[in-house]
Amino acid sequence: MYGNRIVLFAPLYVGNYCTNDCDYCGFRRSNADAIRRTLDRDELVRQVTALERHGQKRLIVVFGEHPRYSASSLPSQYGRCTRCRKARRDTACEH
Ligand code: SF4
Repeated sequence: MYGNRIVLFAPLYVGNYCTNDCDYCGFRRSNADAIRRTLDRDELVRQVTALERHGQKRLIVVFGEHPRYSASSLPSQYGRCTRCRKARRDTACEH
């Protein structure tokens, strides 16, 4: 996709709810110290704006594996965000 070059993505943390329990991960369901959050649309716009201001052009959306999130539902949740539509051109999803 990117040819013979290295492309870096900045993480965009959308939410940390997760139904899984991977030992190495702070999102794991057994982590009682975690304060669970999911960004609302305005928070997402502020995060994207701040990342752009710091020169980030490619984002990787980070969220837990949970019914609240899916790669297909997130665009409709945040789809009215102009900055996010612009950013989504180079956005990948991962948890
Ligand atoms: S977010 Fe991913 S790595 Fe972390 S606990 Fe959930 S499934 Fe595991």
